[in-house]
Amino acid sequence: MTYEIQSIFTDANHTNYLAERIILLASPFLHESAGCILMLLKWLKPRTFLQGRHPWVVSAGLAVALSTLGNAPFWWALSQLPEINSLRAYAGLIGIWAALTLLMWVFVNVVIWPWWRKPAGVVLLVMSMTASYFMAMYGVVIDPTMVSNAMQTNATEVRDLLSLTWLLTMVIGVGVPGLWWWRLEPMAGVGWQRWTHQLGAVMLGSVLTTALLLLVFQDLASLMRNHTNLRYLVNPLNTIYAIGRLATSKQAQRQQPLQTIGDDASARLPDAKAAPVLVLVVGETARAANFGIAGYTRDTTPQMQALQNEGNLYYFSQVQSCGTNTEISLPCLFSHQDRKANANRTVNYESLLDVLYKAGWAVLWLDNQSGCKGVCDRVAHVDTSRLKHPYLCTAGECWDEIMLDGLPERLALLTPERRARGTVLVMHQMGSHGPAYYKRSPPDHKKFLPECTSNALSSCDAQALMNAYDNSIAYTDHFLGQVVAWLKSQPQPTALWYVSDHGESLGENGIYLHGMPYKMAPKDQTHVPMALWLSPTMRQRWALDDACLRTQQGKPWSHDNWFHTMLGSADVKTGLYQPEMDITHACRH
Ligand SMILES: [Zn+2]
Repeated sequence: MTYEIQSIFTDANHTNYLAERIILLASPFLHESAGCILMLLKWLKPRTFLQGRHPWVVSAGLAVALSTLGNAPFWWALSQLPEINSLRAYAGLIGIWAALTLLMWVFVNVVIWPWWRKPAGVVLLVMSMTASYFMAMYGVVIDPTMVSNAMQTNATEVRDLLSLTWLLTMVIGVGVPGLWWWRLEPMAGVGWQRWTHQLGAVMLGSVLTTALLLLVFQDLASLMRNHTNLRYLVNPLNTIYAIGRLATSKQAQRQQPLQTIGDDASARLPDAKAAPVLVLVVGETARAANFGIAGYTRDTTPQMQALQNEGNLYYFSQVQSCGTNTEISLPCLFSHQDRKANANRTVNYESLLDVLYKAGWAVLWLDNQSGCKGVCDRVAHVDTSRLKHPYLCTAGECWDEIMLDGLPERLALLTPERRARGTVLVMHQMGSHGPAYYKRSPPDHKKFLPECTSNALSSCDAQALMNAYDNSIAYTDHFLGQVVAWLKSQPQPTALWYVSDHGESLGENGIYLHGMPYKMAPKDQTHVPMALWLSPTMRQRWALDDACLRTQQGKPWSHDNWFHTMLGSADVKTGLYQPEMDITHACRH
């Protein structure tokens, strides 16, 4: 069912592709057309459409712009549904359009008052056009997690997302109606007249909207029931709803004090030379489907396969992520609670790292991405993404190998008594972060060419897009190989756990990127790679049953297992530990 809607975007993307081509072809004439537009605006100035009209008419103009132009992806999705095949269905569509326009009219009259009329109208246009652009270009929907994602985005990520098509969308969708709105002076009312104008519009609009909704109720109800994701497409109500939901849940969470967990944690004290080193690599946007070691047709993971051939690497082939974006997955991965509990969580808890720290381990978090989302707040952490390095860093960001640069010096800064017990080192990768996948592998690591170098993914050749993504996976494989090479050179027992935070859509059914609501997310966004590498001395320390662990590889696991598996791997005792959730428990003796 969800795929029906998703496939619609394939065609929407073709439209975008065409639009971008047309602009490229037209670019020599852009200068001239800019002159024409200026002339047109001069001509429009004295006779701006709806100038001096009744405020109802003026607000209705904005409502039409919002319900029509600002909801293009919604109308496109609706018009492509299989149910829309009869005269009655088309009449129903017109009814829905009228109801939505009236609803927008009410909404505009509720939020826009004379004192902030001009900027508020432009803000509404910006909101709905931005949401429309991302929905049409990447097949995403706007829900609370998507908005949370957008709010935590950094400048590099924004730069990665913008493109020529975005500029054009803003010019047409915000520039033109925005200018009209700004110049418009509606008929001025005096004193109480303003109030009656707006309150009257709200009342009349509400009555008419209700009447219309009742009229089209049957058709609308069945459409919404069969295609639940339609409601995430209604603009800008989806964004406002999402911001509201997010603000209330954030507010509820802020009011809660931080809850401690695992205060009873303790760890076995090894002899000083055998203090284990555990490296946890948290991948970014790596999906299992593109891992050679998982059966992908391309050899994207030669290093992992070589380690597997040596007999020291285990690949877990059926792992589900906790969320479809970093904001959800990362805290969930390090949480003692499972996915469902995390989704409804209003309480702030400490993380796995706090428990390991309480057990006496040295803990260090290296971040080559947009931060640890609160997981590493109370342990040592270093942001490596803005470092300067002659070849590992360019254009304000660094390749993941930067996290290995100067590593012994960083580890030497951790408390010696803790290091004598054991060290947990987390490396949070930039990985395959999109949509600029081509930026995620250094020039000398490009195995698959040509690469898509546009951020407007839908305008890229599908193979070139896959090439760029596969290069980022191959670079992650290289990075993991480097981490293992370093671990092999250490005298202590060492192990590496690797897992990705979530997957990615690469144009399947017209969907790009990630962040779909979990229930309707395609498998590409939730099926993630996970692997374990062990040194021979760690194998001894665990008294590992190799055959047993091999049978664990194909079982269905998820991020829910991570917390307990890491406690088990670190040999930490606490009442929180659930052995049946630990992937390796049954195989360690
Ligand atoms: Zn992520």
